[in-house]
Amino acid sequence: MKIGIKFKLISFTALVLLLVISFLSILVLSGIKNYQNKEAESTLFKQKDMFEQYFSESSDAENNGINNKMQQSVRGSIFNKPWLRTIPASVYDTKGELLSGFKSNGKFNENKDKEEMIKVAIDGKVSYIKVNDVIYFYSPIKYRNDIVAILELEYSVKENGLFYNKIKNLFYGTGLMALILGILIGIIYFFNFTRDIYKMKNSIKSIQNGEFNKVEQVHRNDELGELSEGLLFMSNTIEKNIAELKVERDYLSMAVNKLEEMDKQQKEFIGNVTHEFKTPITTIKAYADLIGMYNNDLSLINEGSVNISKECDRLTSMVDSVLNLSALEKYDFEVIKSEVNIKEAFHDICERMMVKVRKNNLTMNYDIEDIVVTVDEENIRHIVINLIDNAIKYNKPGGNIEIRCYKNYDRIVLSVSDTGIGIKEEALGKIFQPFYRVESHRSRESGGVGLGLALVKSLVEKLNGTIEVESNINEGTTFSMEFPI
Ligand code: ADP
Repeated sequence: MKIGIKFKLISFTALVLLLVISFLSILVLSGIKNYQNKEAESTLFKQKDMFEQYFSESSDAENNGINNKMQQSVRGSIFNKPWLRTIPASVYDTKGELLSGFKSNGKFNENKDKEEMIKVAIDGKVSYIKVNDVIYFYSPIKYRNDIVAILELEYSVKENGLFYNKIKNLFYGTGLMALILGILIGIIYFFNFTRDIYKMKNSIKSIQNGEFNKVEQVHRNDELGELSEGLLFMSNTIEKNIAELKVERDYLSMAVNKLEEMDKQQKEFIGNVTHEFKTPITTIKAYADLIGMYNNDLSLINEGSVNISKECDRLTSMVDSVLNLSALEKYDFEVIKSEVNIKEAFHDICERMMVKVRKNNLTMNYDIEDIVVTVDEENIRHIVINLIDNAIKYNKPGGNIEIRCYKNYDRIVLSVSDTGIGIKEEALGKIFQPFYRVESHRSRESGGVGLGLALVKSLVEKLNGTIEVESNINEGTTFSMEFPI
């Protein structure tokens, strides 16, 4: 059975108090008793000495010629001396007979051993006995070394007894009160004391359960306070370590996910590259075989040379894009920053693209803030050209393209919007993947291979920027970017 610390401490205090009080009571009471006994003994012996002295004096008078009768009256007169009668006394002769005139009072003698004790006194020894509240004292009275009489004293110690009992009761009363008070104070103190211990016990439980915010500090100026401080420190350290471990674990799992994702993308990329390269090669091979078989067919030769040239252009553009992309991923190209007048740079790009815009029966507006910022101009150009190219390819006849660029604190905000065919929602998350095309037919027709946006994203990331896309089917698409300057 488990006994709580509170109960143990209170029981221990009560036991110690009880022992101390009992020990003190016994010590003091036995001291009082001893003192009283010694006092009584000394009083009785003094009384006996006085008797002996007066007996000697009276006997000396007898020997100087006083007869027996006179002798008795002398004794009587001595005995009647008031100061000798403070303690009731009787005098016996050496045969144990009460001498007349020496009976002090008529009080009943309760000592049953009286005869025996008188005999002991006749033998020359002093003896006394306590019966009820009276000490019966027997002593020989000597005259010139002879025992001439026996003295019996009846010394009442009733007062002593009453005093002793009073003190005893006082001790019991105050002892009990001290015990109760001590236990009460102990209970209050130990309740406070153990409350703090229980607080710490609960704190340990909270640490075990990982509820670090529930760990309470006990404010005390002693070892318990230090212990509680240590506990809090330990809890904070464990919490910190766990948090760090969690962060590391999250990083690790993120890294693992990224690796898995990259592995998947790489596999897809290789699969796509193979597929995309095979298509033009198959066409070229087919035309080459046909021309070989029908080398007189001029129209076939013409058609073949046009298509072979077209597919070769396509292959060249694909090889360029793939090489660009893999180089961007693999090598950490230096970002060459320079002071660029954004308005001038964009004006140049847009004017160059304007020919293609008009050719496709489209319009293009640009709103560029007149600012000079430090950026990698070449990268920005690539990004904007790719996005305008897409805005032309996936637009609708008579559609519009809008370009905006301005400075927002320490960032450049750039957007390219079109009023084209839009991108369906489920495709929005995939358009930045290499070789992904929403409508492969339309993309192929316009010479796209699905690498433009992958390249754009890589370039944006190289510039520590972000890119987002918003699109509504048949309404248009907006690509928004932000770059730190
Ligand atoms: P592609 O060479 O096919 O244009 P991109 O990587 O540039 O490849 O684009 C990927 C796909 O995203 C495109 O095939 C097209 O379906 C879609 N897309 C890109 N830009 C636009 C746009 N402005 N409007 C609609 N669809 C777009």
